[in-house]
Amino acid sequence: MSYTIKNISSLLPSAAVSLSNENAEILQLLTDSRRLNFPKTTLFFAIETKLRDGHNYVTELFNQGVRNFVVQKGKNIAAVVSQNANLIFVNQPLDALQLLVAFHRSKFNIPVIGITGSNGKTIVKEWLNQLLVSDFEIVRTPRSYNSQIGVPLSVWEMSPENNLGIFEAGISLPGEMERLEKIIQPNIGIFTNIGTAHDEGFKNRAEKIAEKFKLFKNVQLLILPADNSEVLHLAEYLLSCKLFTWGKYDKSDLQILDIEVKESQTLINAKYKKEEYQIAIPFTDEASIQNAITCWATLICMDISAEKIAERIQSLRPIDMRLEIKPALNNCTLINDSYSFDINSLGIALSFLQQQKIHKTVIISDLAYFDENLYRTIVNLLSQKDIYRVITIGPAWYKLQYLLHGKFEKINSLKSVEQFLANYQTFNLRAEAILLKGARKYAFEQIAKILENQVHQTRMEISIPALAHNLQEYRKYIQPEIKIMAMVKASGYGSGSIEVATMVQFYHVNYLAVAYADEGVALRNSGISIPIAVMNFDEEAFETIVIHHLEPNIFSFKIYYAFHDFLVNQGIKNYPIHLKIDTGMHRLGFELEEMDKIVALLNENNTMVVKSAFTHFVASEDPNEDEFTHHQAHIFKEAIQILEKGIGYKFIRHIANSSAIIRFPEYHFDMVRLGIGLYGVDSSSLHQETLETVATLISTIAQIHHVKAGETIGYNRRGKVDRDSKIATIRIGYADGLNRKLGNLNGSVFIQGKLAPIIGNICMDMAMVDITDIDNVHEGDSVEIFGKNLPVWDVASKIGTISYEVLTSVGQRIKRVYIEE
Ligand SMILES: *Cc1c(COP(=O)(O)O)cnc(C)c1O
Repeated sequence: MSYTIKNISSLLPSAAVSLSNENAEILQLLTDSRRLNFPKTTLFFAIETKLRDGHNYVTELFNQGVRNFVVQKGKNIAAVVSQNANLIFVNQPLDALQLLVAFHRSKFNIPVIGITGSNGKTIVKEWLNQLLVSDFEIVRTPRSYNSQIGVPLSVWEMSPENNLGIFEAGISLPGEMERLEKIIQPNIGIFTNIGTAHDEGFKNRAEKIAEKFKLFKNVQLLILPADNSEVLHLAEYLLSCKLFTWGKYDKSDLQILDIEVKESQTLINAKYKKEEYQIAIPFTDEASIQNAITCWATLICMDISAEKIAERIQSLRPIDMRLEIKPALNNCTLINDSYSFDINSLGIALSFLQQQKIHKTVIISDLAYFDENLYRTIVNLLSQKDIYRVITIGPAWYKLQYLLHGKFEKINSLKSVEQFLANYQTFNLRAEAILLKGARKYAFEQIAKILENQVHQTRMEISIPALAHNLQEYRKYIQPEIKIMAMVKASGYGSGSIEVATMVQFYHVNYLAVAYADEGVALRNSGISIPIAVMNFDEEAFETIVIHHLEPNIFSFKIYYAFHDFLVNQGIKNYPIHLKIDTGMHRLGFELEEMDKIVALLNENNTMVVKSAFTHFVASEDPNEDEFTHHQAHIFKEAIQILEKGIGYKFIRHIANSSAIIRFPEYHFDMVRLGIGLYGVDSSSLHQETLETVATLISTIAQIHHVKAGETIGYNRRGKVDRDSKIATIRIGYADGLNRKLGNLNGSVFIQGKLAPIIGNICMDMAMVDITDIDNVHEGDSVEIFGKNLPVWDVASKIGTISYEVLTSVGQRIKRVYIEE
């Protein structure tokens, strides 16, 4: 099945078509410029979403070799692109994408399972894949790409060798499911359950269920739970297909008789066609039990024998959907993405690997079936990705290793995982980012286990999607034409300035601000190209600043004169600067009375141009100080008036930090400076619930002691126990930023859903917590110091400080682990 751009243009209702090479073959569809792998054969759809406009990436993609674009009519396209590329102009690129893929889907006459429901869609899909992979060539949604964009990209992967499709559909608004149905065209439906998620978009539950059922408009069979009578009745009322129900309800097709939760597994007894069956699942939580039963019902419908079902369900594996980076041996980091292996998911994982700023290594297994061309494609893909070392595992790669020669710095080809495990120490893996990508049967988790030394490691997990979400939340409070400066000082409030900067640059934030020049240099060295303001600097830094195109904050006459002399010496004119005005903080900046003089200097010399002028609120979060806040804004207005009149050109005016963005819309001026809010803390306390947690500090338990009543814990015998107690030692101390004032029962950590008080004095590298009242805690278990479950502001208030300090106090020796999705 192949398409040329001409075929595609004839399939789409377009306003205009301009083809410079109408025979260009299209193999990949792309909507996210970061995921580009095969420029020549990619068709990019420039889609405009709330967060960004795909048209802004067209030129960049053209420069990377992309030649095929679907764009919205009326949008400005750079001349080089319109003259040299294939362009299809449509009313709505998203509609065009969906229409094209719906056409593609209609070419296949195979069973296609469509899954929806409030929770469990991805788990059910992945488990069905595990359970059916030996019977079918399955094409399925990668990860959880179940949105209006994700679904067409998933369904596009259907190819003639597939004989089963499994796709999930997720919606948040009325009208969306109809569109997804047309793309997936399922003939078997699975409804997982109905919950409260995404309730906002719907009038009531019935409307939400009815909307989800639109996926099943044309299915022949729907598998659904029977115990929710509203769901069951609506299915009977709205759908004409056959229903296969499961549940305790005695008319269920698969009637659940009994669920027995054991230590590490759950036994489920059920009746089907008057016979009783038992399955054991290797999970004990309620969600897993529900999802496993849904899979059981589906396997019955797919005519899998009872013995096979029982055997396969027993070996279900947990699904970890996140791409995360874990610390590994010799300062390496490990990205374990070996739960699925196909070219599509390899592309996604490589784009993620690409963002790591160290040597990149890929460990890759043979594919599930042999196709030499596919191996060549993979080598081709890897060689475009700046990969340092490739390690292949499996006989097919072993035979084809010549394909790799000359393309990578280091190559190791091994016949089996065992051979890898016996030899890996001789490879000298060191300070590399290692991507693990292996077909199921190679059980790459053995490799992950050996390479990870994460067991002992305290780490801070940083959620990149949460950062993006928070940025979007704050955008809701400001007018679209107002610029945003993202504050990434103090290593991005502890989260890591490079990663935060990379994310906000991608989302078209206009400016970055760092405290010192060195932080700016680190950003430039990792490819950050947007303007960077340096808040605080001295004469030593001038050269660094100029070399790296950093924009200094001029806050005093002394620094003005010094920088001026430096620029004159270098023969530099009109260097961009930011002018800081002091309106009451009395930290840095020119006073109102000094404005005339600085204006005169700026006019007299042409060494600098004012890009922006700004001041900083001292208490914009505090309603008791609102009068002072207004007073500061008043002084600022006077100062910028003098400046504007004096220098005679426009500059960016800004004053608002995170809490002022929310509390003082009248003071947004031309730009706002977003700091703590980006990192998930609403300092104004008005909208905390709309933000997502970015940083979670996690440690592990080194040892558990059983201590008799009357004994003491830790230094100076400050922790006395008055009952027989269970005490866990955790691998974090005050040197890592666990403030010593949290000791002696003042603070707690979060373990197994409960709070465990910190007992005794906190040590330099360790601390002890009382887990007497918490069951099921083991040595090696993780504990949360702050984050998702234990808000950072709660920890801060226990020691009389603010979230800013707790976040930025986390020691540099603690690894930051970035969670991508
Ligand atoms: C840190 C800082 C900000 C950001 O403040 P938040 O309260 O974190 O939003 C803004 N402006 C200046 C000058 C800063 O130093």
